[in-house]
Amino acid sequence: MNSLHIGIAGAGLAGRTLAWRLLRAGCRVSLFDSRSRDALDTASMTAAAMLSPLAELAVSDDAVFALGQRSMQLWPRWMDELAEGGGAPVYFRQQGTLVVAHAPDQTSLEHFTRLLHHKLPEACRAQVRTLDAAALGAVEPTLAGRFGGGLLLEGEGQLANDQWMAGLATEIERLGVQWHEGQAVEKVEEGRIVCADQSHAVDVAVDARGVGSKAQWPADNPLRGVRGEVLRVECPGVTLLRPVRLMHPRYQLYVAPRPNHQFVVGATELESEDTGPVTLRSTLELASALHSLHPAFGEARVLRLSAALRPALDDHRPAVALRDGVWHINGLYRHGYLCAPALVDELAHKLLGIERKEET
Ligand SMILES: Cc1cc2nc3c(=O)[nH]c(=O)nc-3n(C[C@H](O)[C@H](O)[C@H](O)COP(=O)(O)OP(=O)(O)OC[C@H]3O[C@@H](n4cnc5c(N)ncnc54)[C@H](O)[C@@H]3O)c2cc1C
Repeated sequence: MNSLHIGIAGAGLAGRTLAWRLLRAGCRVSLFDSRSRDALDTASMTAAAMLSPLAELAVSDDAVFALGQRSMQLWPRWMDELAEGGGAPVYFRQQGTLVVAHAPDQTSLEHFTRLLHHKLPEACRAQVRTLDAAALGAVEPTLAGRFGGGLLLEGEGQLANDQWMAGLATEIERLGVQWHEGQAVEKVEEGRIVCADQSHAVDVAVDARGVGSKAQWPADNPLRGVRGEVLRVECPGVTLLRPVRLMHPRYQLYVAPRPNHQFVVGATELESEDTGPVTLRSTLELASALHSLHPAFGEARVLRLSAALRPALDDHRPAVALRDGVWHINGLYRHGYLCAPALVDELAHKLLGIERKEET
């Protein structure tokens, strides 16, 4: 058992997952968040939570790919470990991603395919399967006859982020977290989490406040928010077995299935820290992409339109860093779910002073 008292500012994906790993290792954990545990306006609750190391390689680099690959090993194990606590199972699938394009947009798909082959390590290229129309229909029957072909990115996955976040909340309560809900943190210092009315002494302080810790990032490596918007619908007439990415010359959109015939359609990516409601333009783009995938989505019921800020560094890589005695985990950008297990595992091992044993 480890008797360290660790204070974590921010109970989003990074902070909450880290709290869980540290509690499991026997640490005492105090967790602070300005919002309630089920607030919907954070990146962690807004995300589509696709686990796409291959597809994301087109817009990221080797570092993100390596974190994603390692996380894809950890996710199934962590799902099992969370279930051991007795909570409700979390929707988690690893049936690949389908990438398609309408006939006028075929060049976008061809470019994406070439980019992937260029950037992917040779050992992983077999995970990219080219499908003709018949094979596509066999893999994803709902889309049979709708596209001339596509790509299947094998091994990619997805999870229900709201279930993951709720499951963690229940489990860390069971493991004895001291959760300071609705407590805004003003500053994180060495050995101290500073709130408006009280300063809390801890052995180790971790800042995981996403864009909320912007002021604590240096000018030569600034943190910024990148706005993303998603549409959530329910459509009992349609079943998709895996996320579908729709290539388009202007934007790439995706439809990620969730339990009970729900779908998350996303996402816009705007260089803006505006946290206001989703715009009409974005709503039209998301809704038309969905409808163009299959006309049956015309009957979908709109459940929610959400916007949130992705915390991003200029190099778009996530960072685990120690600065002035404070540990930071941030910059998860558009790869938070993809990279969280590897990053959190790395930080937890650093905090516990345990030598990492490589996965076998
Ligand atoms: C539209 C959209 C789609 C996405 N899709 C995917 C995807 O498909 N796959 C993928 O891997 N990633 C995706 N992401 C990215 C992923 O959601 C983020 O990288 C991840 O959630 C970031 O987690 P975080 O814990 O670092 O930050 P956050 O989720 O922002 O959490 C930070 C927490 O800190 C709290 N906080 C902030 N300020 C303070 C303060 N002063 N005091 C106390 N608490 C504070 C907040 O309330 C919040 O709970 C998507 C993101 C968006 C927005």
